[in-house]
Amino acid sequence: MINDLFINTILLIAITFIGGHILKEIPKIMVSTLYGRILLGLCGGLMGILLMIYAIEVNGTTTILDLRVFAIMIVSYIGGIVPTIVSGIIIGGYRTVKYGINISSIAAIIQIILYIIFFHIVDIKIKSECKKWVTKTLISLIILIPTFYYLLRNLGNAEIICFGLSLLIIFTSIVEYLLLNYVHKSNELYRVYKKESTKDFLTGLYNTRQFDKILNLAFERVLMNKEKLSCLMIDIDHFKKVNDTYGHATGDRVLKELAYVLRKNCREFDIVGRVGGEEFCILLLDCPKEQTFEIALRINDAVEKHKYTIGQNKFINITVSIGVAMYPDETLNLHSIKETADMDLYKAKQNGRNRVYHRGICISCPL
Ligand code: GH3
Ligand code: MG
Ligand code: MG
Repeated sequence: MINDLFINTILLIAITFIGGHILKEIPKIMVSTLYGRILLGLCGGLMGILLMIYAIEVNGTTTILDLRVFAIMIVSYIGGIVPTIVSGIIIGGYRTVKYGINISSIAAIIQIILYIIFFHIVDIKIKSECKKWVTKTLISLIILIPTFYYLLRNLGNAEIICFGLSLLIIFTSIVEYLLLNYVHKSNELYRVYKKESTKDFLTGLYNTRQFDKILNLAFERVLMNKEKLSCLMIDIDHFKKVNDTYGHATGDRVLKELAYVLRKNCREFDIVGRVGGEEFCILLLDCPKEQTFEIALRINDAVEKHKYTIGQNKFINITVSIGVAMYPDETLNLHSIKETADMDLYKAKQNGRNRVYHRGICISCPL
């Protein structure tokens, strides 16, 4: 019998791995919303049902043995009280519908209510995740074993069944905790790596690869919704001199500050990328011509006015040249918008730097 229950343990391990794999792709924030917690509770409920399908019916009684308590413990570990209640209702409901109302199913429902109450108290009172898990395991044992002993008291081997079940719960609890921790940590690492692989490590802006990915998505969106798209290519003027004069580390610091200035002077939803050593590209999504000019000029001005820290109370100023391209106002070839902006950037450089060019004309120069 205990051998059969071992299948429950294996099932639990498999579900934890699959569940962890699915959760990996779901942003953490979603699991913390009410909707996310209810969904988690539903999954916990389904997990409990699956464990009950492989439950052992004790001969001559209405009692079934399984590890469904772990479905409740796992959702309580991940999402707290809400998913615990939801999974508890599902598991209790299934137990009653499938096996009818009898002393065992009433005991099962009382057990679930006790789990929900005590697990919640543990979550409030105890901070350490490990201590929480150990306490919840002890609570499960205290609730489960005497109930089973009472229900199976007429069988000759009730003590052996209860002893075996206790050992299995302790064993499963240890394995499941280690597994949950492992899945949790590897998911966290996966999220960090995924995020970092899209960002430039120095400035925190999108890196070239991610920027091009977003650019392609923007193309699809623009064509589908007949929207506008503007592109600003920005290059620092004489940046080599900054490096040569103050050192590479100071140059890095300037790049970081410049990234901040760029972000601050465009709209929150615009896409800012570092597309080269000291080259940046900004996509202004669905931005009219006048506003595109306004943003380009504002950036040009803000970069020049900002004081870049190069040491304690030591600052320098830098300037940038900007090329502006717009779809569909200027180019009808959406896919070459970056190259078109680059050509104007080149003109800005050729004609003196620290200026904004659009279609070969300086738009920042006094008339
Ligand atoms: P221009 O006005 O023509 O753009 O002149 P420039 O000196 O800015 O251009 P150039 O292409 O000659 O030099 C670019 C410099 O940018 C050289 C390189 O050392 C520096 N650079 C590129 N990437 C980094 C980086 O990550 N950190 C630092 N500190 N410097 C960088
Ligand atoms: Mg440069
Ligand atoms: Mg350059």
